[in-house]
Amino acid sequence: MPPALSRADQSELILSKAHASVPDGILVVDSKGKIVAFNRRFTLLWGLPNKGLRGSPDRATVRRVLDQLVDPQGFQARVRYLYDHPRERSREELLLKDGRVFERHSAPIFSADRRQYGRVWYFRDITERKRGEERLRERERLRLHREFVANVSHELRTPLTAIEGFTETLLNGALDDARNRRRFLRTIIAHSRRLRQLVDGLLDFSRQEAADLHAAKETEIDLRRFIKDLILGIRPVLRRKSLAVSQYVERGLTVRICELQLCRILGNLLDNAAKYSRPGGRIRVAAERKGSRIVLSVEDRGIGIAAADLPKIFDRFHRSSTARRHGVAGNGLGLALVKQLVESRGGSIGVESREGKGTAFRVSLKPA
Ligand code: ADP
Repeated sequence: MPPALSRADQSELILSKAHASVPDGILVVDSKGKIVAFNRRFTLLWGLPNKGLRGSPDRATVRRVLDQLVDPQGFQARVRYLYDHPRERSREELLLKDGRVFERHSAPIFSADRRQYGRVWYFRDITERKRGEERLRERERLRLHREFVANVSHELRTPLTAIEGFTETLLNGALDDARNRRRFLRTIIAHSRRLRQLVDGLLDFSRQEAADLHAAKETEIDLRRFIKDLILGIRPVLRRKSLAVSQYVERGLTVRICELQLCRILGNLLDNAAKYSRPGGRIRVAAERKGSRIVLSVEDRGIGIAAADLPKIFDRFHRSSTARRHGVAGNGLGLALVKQLVESRGGSIGVESREGKGTAFRVSLKPA
């Protein structure tokens, strides 16, 4: 019969068994940086020998680990930081030269009297999970690309088919039909304009994706002056529809951004507000500081957006049922571009709308 184990030995045995079966590689280091415990999974993950590790300075193990990392300096700096800040916990993902990815956690260990005893390190091989996530992202990228090409083809085909059909009708005799030929020609020109609008929108989009707008220079922009100029720029449409625009911008409020980007963002929102307003409508443009952010808003009292369309409003080519029912022309690319621009500089965009009542877009930007 084996000798009876003391209570302390029993709990040590249970703990060591438990440590042996967890998926994490565990390493325990005392406050002087000496290795006091590790499990088998730890040595397996890092290809380290089991013998001679306990009691050795942690530094030697760190060196062997460093040789296997893609960014050894970064890891070393973070380890040094943790030894300098013994109370901190941290987590990171480590890329290994052999293609594996490890998740690393580290936390301090305290004795019962709250004195620092040392530090525990956990390493988990998450290579498979990462590959799965990458595969999903790639599949989603392909799906979006396919959907985009299908949308573009569909959008281009609709006006093209109409132009072809009406031209053929004219050539097949309708040219002599004095009553209808002008109507047919007007339809052809309307579809040609739609085609131009689509192609212009696509070009804008591809320019954006080629990142030439991202690369543009950032300057400090006085929002009050900028918005005033933007409103002046759409005066013809404001006059035509008898729209009134009011501007609320705190004096001296500035944002550091590329002027062209801001023009695209606010210009698109303002164009839409005018386009989807009924004659005689009102538009409100505002810019204000909210905490550390700057919030730009464009509100109108126009046709609004049906609740069912709201979640899709920033998708490329999506046009709300309300806009289509009111026969307002558009290509559904402007808001997708705005969202992409806003998010590319760490901002966010939101929309509130009620059909028949109006719409408010809010863009939140970091000031610098
Ligand atoms: P579009 O060229 O169709 O206006 P956008 O991408 O700018 O394309 O907008 C997408 C859709 O969002 C529009 O087709 C319209 O249905 C809706 N929308 C955008 N802004 C407004 C607004 N201010 N009022 C009502 N609907 C809007």
